[in-house]
Amino acid sequence: RVKAEGRNGWRFYRPEMDAQLQSRIEMEHDLRQALADNQFQLFYQPLLNLDTHRIVSFEALLRWHHPLRGMVSPAEFIPVAEDCGLIGQLGEWVLNQATRTAALWPEAWRVAVNISPLQFRHKSLVGLVNRALKVSGLSPARLELEITESVILEDETHNLAILNAIRALGVRIAMDDFGTGYSSLSYLRTFPFDKIKIDQSFVRDLPHDKNALSIVRAITDMAQSLGVLITAEGVETEAQMEALKALNCGEAQGYLIGRPAPDISAYVQPLAVCYGT
Ligand code: C2E
Ligand code: MG
Ligand code: MG
Ligand code: MG
Repeated sequence: RVKAEGRNGWRFYRPEMDAQLQSRIEMEHDLRQALADNQFQLFYQPLLNLDTHRIVSFEALLRWHHPLRGMVSPAEFIPVAEDCGLIGQLGEWVLNQATRTAALWPEAWRVAVNISPLQFRHKSLVGLVNRALKVSGLSPARLELEITESVILEDETHNLAILNAIRALGVRIAMDDFGTGYSSLSYLRTFPFDKIKIDQSFVRDLPHDKNALSIVRAITDMAQSLGVLITAEGVETEAQMEALKALNCGEAQGYLIGRPAPDISAYVQPLAVCYGT
């Protein structure tokens, strides 16, 4: 290794490093182009209330149609957008687009929007949320923001003030991917979340895995006593859904219920056909 650094501190050329860096630079460039060229689209995935068996909301999930690479996963490009300072602009587009779209849906449905922790550092997030609601005419109660625990871990005082201000608008706040990372239950004392989304890694191993079962039970029990709503992510089988119902989980989201899709018309009840007399 010492040798690889070279005697005079020179680094030897490493082709694989170069390729990685090159593709990173390329993606950064392409992301800027994508914002200018409207290559982004929102897909929507339904959340099902397990008591009423009705769809209650849709999560907006960002899609990038790259002109050459085809569909690029957000897991791939969101981190790059965060690194190169494009997440603010991208997040603003998502917020505006999601609220504008949801304003046209039936009143009973909410829309959930993922917010990057970095959006808490950019321009005023509260201002952006407020403006998106005003422009779209969407009622604040129909908007839900999904954040991850790093929002609470980093710059706690600043971010909690922002979360409280957003909540004061009437917007709901959900904690995403719960159970991954540190996920201390004490967060629930720090901030009164409206909803907790149990990460799909726990749901995947239901109903047979005893550990997964105990963890999900512990989360749902605690949430129930705190009056926090629980959504299980990544529900793919009937057996998982039954286990979640038995554990008193409130909502489910996953391929079993519906995959993310560009429009939600498949979920709209057809109007009764009126026959003339
Ligand atoms: P997330 O917010 O936890 O979203 C759930 C992810 O699980 C989505 O992946 C969804 O397509 C996937 N999923 C849903 N049901 C199932 C299932 O039954 N099985 C499996 N295996 N997967 C399922 P997606 O759309 O690829 O998004 C990945 C992540 O990218 C999201 O995780 C979120 O963290 C981030 N993301 C997506 N859109 C946005 C956005 O507009 N803004 C920000 N900041 N992040 C976003
Ligand atoms: Mg989410
Ligand atoms: Mg999640
Ligand atoms: Mg996730």
